Amino acid sequence: MIVTLKQSADEARVRGELARRGLWVGASLRALDGTVHLPVGEGSTRVKLDELEGVEGVATVATSDSPHPLVDRHGPTVRVGAAVIGPRVPALVAGPCSVESEAQIDRIARALAASGVGWLRGGAFKPRSSPYAFQGAGTEALRWMRRAADAHGMKVVTEVLAEGDVPAVAEWADVLQIGSRNMANYALLKQVGRASKPVLLKRAMSATVEEWLLAGEYLLSHGAPGVVFCERGVRGFDPSTRNLLDLGAVALLAHAYGLPVIVDPSHATGRRELILPLARAAIAAGAAGVMIETHDAPEHAKSDGAQALLPGQVAELSRDLAAMAAGGGR
Ligand code: PEP
Ligand code: MN
Repeated sequence: MIVTLKQSADEARVRGELARRGLWVGASLRALDGTVHLPVGEGSTRVKLDELEGVEGVATVATSDSPHPLVDRHGPTVRVGAAVIGPRVPALVAGPCSVESEAQIDRIARALAASGVGWLRGGAFKPRSSPYAFQGAGTEALRWMRRAADAHGMKVVTEVLAEGDVPAVAEWADVLQIGSRNMANYALLKQVGRASKPVLLKRAMSATVEEWLLAGEYLLSHGAPGVVFCERGVRGFDPSTRNLLDLGAVALLAHAYGLPVIVDPSHATGRRELILPLARAAIAAGAAGVMIETHDAPEHAKSDGAQALLPGQVAELSRDLAAMAAGGGR
């Protein structure tokens, strides 16, 4: 439950009163208007609500049957400055797996912007399965991306891999990406939430939908103004595709929970020829957009070349998605 304090409350005293009743009290969450909320867990103790409401300094006590009340209230749209990811127009997030050089990201951004792509993706910090694989160009790549995006009127979406990198990524990016491998890194989620920037939250490769939503709750309860969920395939039994794209979960988030969810068919399949059909399927299932890996010389890409589309293929996808949206094909 959430205990909200009166403006005049003595927080330490309220904490003492709650602890005395055997309740667990988490770190306080401070809203923009200064209101303090205390997350309170009951553990094995049961205390009557009106007893808590009677504690001096307590304004309200909110309980919920849902473990993710903020996600439940989130709604289908995330605003990023003047741009929006939501149900109206499918968002196209595209760019290379890794940002390799200033010239590379500028070339790709230029080509994508010309096809109407508004969101530039690219990894500066790469979570690679092998420690011997390219690990990303680091902080410098954040600046290259920012410059390319500004030059071509795009927004930057990029992954933050470690708690210590949050300030740098928050300085240069518009949307902070939590990668699949970090969806359950709760210390990182808290730190990213505190940056107060919109977040793109990838589903872990073996996470249930409920675990994914709870990861979103971590972000929102620590200050993230909005979360875009991203399905990128879960572990399947069949190596024919890199992962197993769970469009059922996409439809569930979009239609049952009313949340903004996008699909990454690049990491889901690992195969270039499957990206366009699955991007269309994603939009038909209710996705608010797609994230597509793009490279202008995939055979020389430092990571994930086999799943990269050429910018011209992204242009084709951009036209397709616009036509689907106009024709009500979602
Ligand atoms: C990525 O989008 O760059 C990435 C590493 O994807 P994932 O976390 O889904 O593997
Ligand atoms: Mn990749």
